[in-house]
Amino acid sequence: MGAPGSGKSTFCEHVIRSSTRPWVRVCQDTIGNGKAGTKSQCLKSATSVLEDGKSVFIDRCNLDREQRAEFVKLGSPQVEMHAVVLDLPAQLCISRSVKRTGHEGNLQGGKAAAVVNRMLQKKELPKLSEGFHRITFCQNDSDVQAALNTYSALSHLDTLPPGCFGQKNPDAKIQLGIMKFLKKVEVPVNVGPDANFPKHPLSTQITKEKDSCCKQPEDISSSSGNAKEIKGGENIVVHAVDGTVSSKDIPTLAFPSISTADFQFNHEKAADIILEKVEEFVNKVENARLVLVDLSHGSKILSLVRAKAAQRNIDSNKFFTFVGDITRLYSKGGLRCNAIANAANWRLKPGGGGANAAIFSAAGPELEVETKKRAGSLIPGKALVVPLPSTSPLFSREGVTHVIHVLGPNMNPQRPNCLDNDYVKGSKVLREAYTSLFEGFASIINTQGNLLEGSSENLRSELSVSQDHFKGNHIKNVPNHDQKIKRVGVYESERSKKCKGFHDEHESDCTESKDGKENLNNEKIGRSMTKTWGSWAQSLYHIAMHPEKHKDNLIEISDDVVVLNDLYPKAQRHLLVLARSEGLDCLADVSREHLQLLRTMHAVGLKWAEKFLCEDELLVFRLGYHSAPSMRQLHLHVISQDFNSKHLKNKKHWNSFNSAFFRDSVDVIEEITNHGRATIKDEDSLLSMELRCHRCRSAHPNMPRLKSHISNCQASFPPSLLQNDRLVLAPSKSGSEP
Ligand code: AMP
Repeated sequence: MGAPGSGKSTFCEHVIRSSTRPWVRVCQDTIGNGKAGTKSQCLKSATSVLEDGKSVFIDRCNLDREQRAEFVKLGSPQVEMHAVVLDLPAQLCISRSVKRTGHEGNLQGGKAAAVVNRMLQKKELPKLSEGFHRITFCQNDSDVQAALNTYSALSHLDTLPPGCFGQKNPDAKIQLGIMKFLKKVEVPVNVGPDANFPKHPLSTQITKEKDSCCKQPEDISSSSGNAKEIKGGENIVVHAVDGTVSSKDIPTLAFPSISTADFQFNHEKAADIILEKVEEFVNKVENARLVLVDLSHGSKILSLVRAKAAQRNIDSNKFFTFVGDITRLYSKGGLRCNAIANAANWRLKPGGGGANAAIFSAAGPELEVETKKRAGSLIPGKALVVPLPSTSPLFSREGVTHVIHVLGPNMNPQRPNCLDNDYVKGSKVLREAYTSLFEGFASIINTQGNLLEGSSENLRSELSVSQDHFKGNHIKNVPNHDQKIKRVGVYESERSKKCKGFHDEHESDCTESKDGKENLNNEKIGRSMTKTWGSWAQSLYHIAMHPEKHKDNLIEISDDVVVLNDLYPKAQRHLLVLARSEGLDCLADVSREHLQLLRTMHAVGLKWAEKFLCEDELLVFRLGYHSAPSMRQLHLHVISQDFNSKHLKNKKHWNSFNSAFFRDSVDVIEEITNHGRATIKDEDSLLSMELRCHRCRSAHPNMPRLKSHISNCQASFPPSLLQNDRLVLAPSKSGSEP
């Protein structure tokens, strides 16, 4: 964005020349076979560039909101919209336009001054709320150079943090003096999600912008009240002096990759675990960001994670990678983080190289003191949350309020407790480490007043419990009351048998994870198993146990079941029928004694499906269970097959309802009747399968494409679904092909 003469084409050409990312420049001055063309030609061309998987520069002035609106609409979960605003002094743009020769659009010479002047009068600075992921404001040559460096350094899969960057005081003299005729400059709207979130420690400061090594400091914008605080000068950045909250106040945890450096954990495996755990977190917790940080641009783990994150369609507003020093994320990189993770040693002491030494040193002696108050050591797979006193430089300079120590598994024979290449155990411990780390972060968010997705009073209180838990209990291995541990054993493994009786002391060694489960011809036959449930997985359990406390959210309560709308419906109609029996967490717990309950759940689900079918006979329903549910307490999904929902976001969501992972209620009842247990298919591969239409089985490269296909697909359902009453249809449709 920028007036003629502001340097847009030069900017694009420079980036295209120096970047390894495939870029195409779309310019209205040349779009018609080298001649000026129309906006719709630009839109068409940009669309096809994006479809080719390339990035595109829209080289147009785009000075007002209306001009850019249609381009912004090209954004999608896969396509980030960035604005680079070349907001240079009008005088400069005018004199450049007047002097230039051979301009593509022939805007040069005397007429240029009038045109530029006229255009600038319409100028409306962009706001994030228009649909931009990131906006970079450049008001002088050094800003432009910094933006050039940032964009030139982006390789194909790199992403940049979201937010507004580099906007100086809108009332600064340089703007007022030269551009008197401009209308009052508006400041980007705050997109802060939660006004209750406590003010960031930096939010009342006026900070001198430092040379930025990677990114420009984020500019927290407020629409009023800051002018009087300004001392003037180009490099002053104002941080929300009126206390309003911006997108940058979204709780953020920065974490290094655990165990992949000194502890030599396999990078590929670690990247998969990071993404699995990140995905789990971002799907559960709203208004929070996770950032994987490494010091070097050449970091192997960062590029692996970036590539895999792109494949999994993880929301880049909620998770991204960042190159920089974890102890200087704000002052050098402009990235605000409430919490940072420390890849600690078991003694919880400063020392070694890398992040541990750097974090203890940057935090000052306060961190050691506060850590010691809470624990003397840490076992692999666990995390410890330590609040920082405001006297710590990490707090006062960087705005970090908590350090979370976390210890991962060690695969390095030169270090203590080497796991000797045992990746079954290693992966389990690494998973636990990230679970523990992210739960620690969730507990911080909770106490700082942010709402978790799905948070009810219960979930909130669960998290406060887990905060206490993190204050030491965790590392002392006292089982958390919200993590139910069961060990019964038709198919109990030797390892868990050995552990029997002392799991209180060695919880992390004895609980079985997915890795520890036995695998029978790739099918898991229903059996009781050891399973821990994180604090965020408890809400359905609490609802089932105390429906009277949740009456407002329930649509049916009986002695056996509770029915409610799924809080994040993955289709137009999506209900959950919860069993009310204590001790029935998931399908693996179900046996013949529960047959009657299963039939009741099915009948209740069917009743609701039929009710919805009376209202809309075009709907089609399926009733079933997830093989490995994310939430504790046996629940039956009653879901319409349109899958028309904004909550249906990723492969995992899709495949959990459209692969063998979804176990139809009718089949479960049959299996329990015949064999006493249900077949459970919870292989990870099922959830990461390619995306296929549930009707015609055509494959699609990503969720938006799949969603656009299914919104039109009229093919009949596959024969397997048409049998055995797996689909529930309106009476008028039964008998005809759905
Ligand atoms: P599962 O993967 O089978 O455990 O599915 C759990 C379902 O519970 C998901 O569809 C979630 O969207 C839904 N869910 C999570 N939290 C809540 C809640 N507090 N109230 C209602 N539904 C929820």
